[in-house]
Amino acid sequence: MSKIDLINPLVRRKIADVRAHPEAFWSREAQRLHWFRYWHKVFEWNYPERYRWFLGGETNLCYNALDRHVEGGRGGAAALIYANERGERQVYTYAHLLREVKRLAAALRGMGVQKGDRITIYMPVSPEAIMLMLAAVRIGAIHVVVFAGFGAQALASRMEASGSKLLFTSDVTYRKGKNVPLKGIVDEAMTLGGEAVERVVVLNRTGSDIPMVEGRDMTWEDFVAQGEEESDAFTLMEANEPAFIMATSGTTARPKLTVHCHGGYGVWIMSTGDWLFKLRPNDVWWATSDIGWIVGHSYIVYAPLMVGAATIAYEGALDYPGPENFAQLIETFGVTGIFTAPTAVRMLMSYGADPLRQADLSSLQRIVCAGEPLNAPAWEWLQKHVLHDTVPVIDHWWQTETGGPVIGNPYGLSMVPIKPGSAAIPMPGIEVGIVNLDGDELEANEKGILVLKKPFPGLTSTLWGEHDRYNRDYWERIPGQRVYFTGDAAHVDEDGYVWFAGRADEVVNVAGHRIGTVEVETALLTHPAVAEAGVTGRPDEVRGEVLSAFVVLKPGYEPSDELKQALRQAVRSTLGPIAVIGEISFVNMLPKTRSGKIMRRVLKAVILDKDPGDITTIEEVGSVEEARAAWEALKAQRSGQ
Ligand code: AMP
Repeated sequence: MSKIDLINPLVRRKIADVRAHPEAFWSREAQRLHWFRYWHKVFEWNYPERYRWFLGGETNLCYNALDRHVEGGRGGAAALIYANERGERQVYTYAHLLREVKRLAAALRGMGVQKGDRITIYMPVSPEAIMLMLAAVRIGAIHVVVFAGFGAQALASRMEASGSKLLFTSDVTYRKGKNVPLKGIVDEAMTLGGEAVERVVVLNRTGSDIPMVEGRDMTWEDFVAQGEEESDAFTLMEANEPAFIMATSGTTARPKLTVHCHGGYGVWIMSTGDWLFKLRPNDVWWATSDIGWIVGHSYIVYAPLMVGAATIAYEGALDYPGPENFAQLIETFGVTGIFTAPTAVRMLMSYGADPLRQADLSSLQRIVCAGEPLNAPAWEWLQKHVLHDTVPVIDHWWQTETGGPVIGNPYGLSMVPIKPGSAAIPMPGIEVGIVNLDGDELEANEKGILVLKKPFPGLTSTLWGEHDRYNRDYWERIPGQRVYFTGDAAHVDEDGYVWFAGRADEVVNVAGHRIGTVEVETALLTHPAVAEAGVTGRPDEVRGEVLSAFVVLKPGYEPSDELKQALRQAVRSTLGPIAVIGEISFVNMLPKTRSGKIMRRVLKAVILDKDPGDITTIEEVGSVEEARAAWEALKAQRSGQ
């Protein structure tokens, strides 16, 4: 019998109940939203068509996020707290936010934007961008937010693929003490794509002189002036009508545009917001992500507002002006819950615990973390060393496609205790399997590919304009089975906990043993000198592949042969003698996506002396050159030996 069963039979009963009566379960969950008309059917799927949830139901995400609270008498409660690294702060109540959103909704209408039209938002985390998102959704238009750190090509391809009619931008975004200009990137992007774009609206945040293209560009003020009488009207949306398009964080050149709809997505983020994050109206909630990612959509904007909480939207670097900034913000706002990513935890870890101890963190009730595996050493450091177990640090897994968390802990820590390094167990209504590429179902503790056996309300039901691609890439990847292919390597242990090992195409095969790159990185992190590590495989005639590691050291540690030896030993003692590290290169930074994920395919290209392919989503282009230089130096050293 599994441990989950032993610890709490209630959990087992709940899982079985949802499995036996999924439609009754989802009908109950859907009551979390306000519906103007109820659905006549909970779920329908005639493959290869799209599946649909809550058919015929009518609602609106913006109504649920704003009007509902104002009508319920909470107009005076704080809704949006904007803060940036320059120390600027703005607080909007629900009533104020609603007023602003209505103004922008009127302006969009005035510009001729209609239900189903797409608008692209290429703006930093800012009140205006968030209001625009809500205003678009209010009138049934579809927003496409593109991360404001992306370059012209990435912006152009997303505008083009979504057929956006308007593009919104601002002069700059604030990052590490600099004003990073955006408008020039927009001008370049407009030469590369975005044929359907009629007007570009520019928010001038700094009062700078912005070159405007006659007839195409307009100021934010002129845009707002397009709105006629302020109106309470919002558009009733059938549950399966899209609210927004969000591209996957993407390693492929052609972005995959997931589509999230008013009904199913709304229900899913409300349910997971409750089960997993215990989001409540009196929360001061801070998701440290960016509105350019799905986390920003679901847990900076929609879920916290739909719950009636105060949500913090922070623009800038977490460690600017100094490493103490993060903790100080928690103290200043009395933050009760944080959603962050392992890359941020590892960054904090590299500064040591002191900056975190300088502020009062007593308001905090939980920290939740997703985006990459939360390696056990990083978890231990935050949970035990910094927080002394006063606040749980909780890992959970999901994807842009899934809208909200899929693997996590919806039952509470007393029922499903944390196993450091695991994202815990499937959410209610989620059935998982571990398979190989031939479609064989694997046993407990065997590593394979994680698949999801059924759709659930948060899961994208198509890719914008490419439904065949959606079916092909996700539902037809595993032969003989109609299951959703996550692309992640994982195993499920005897207790039903899921352990992620990295992307399936990043698993390394050493002498017939399949080793997840993440497992090796986690082993390296057990050594006190290591701040971050990225591992990839290099072909080897004898072993099939050997492991090649790129390591960033914490301040105060210097590269040396002794240290290399100690790191090899750390991996060996964690993973056994199979996990032989071929070589270790020391670097100052790893190639990462703008959302903080280590780009192991770039490391692989470096060691194979190949072109890294599409790197439009990379954080620092210099990281590729650095990795290449480190690798060349290593090779030269070897041939000289
Ligand atoms: P994105 O679509 O950008 O949100 O990225 C989704 C991918 O991030 C997943 O397919 C995983 O590879 C990775 N990921 C997200 N959360 C976790 C987690 N808690 N543990 C392991 N991998 C994760």
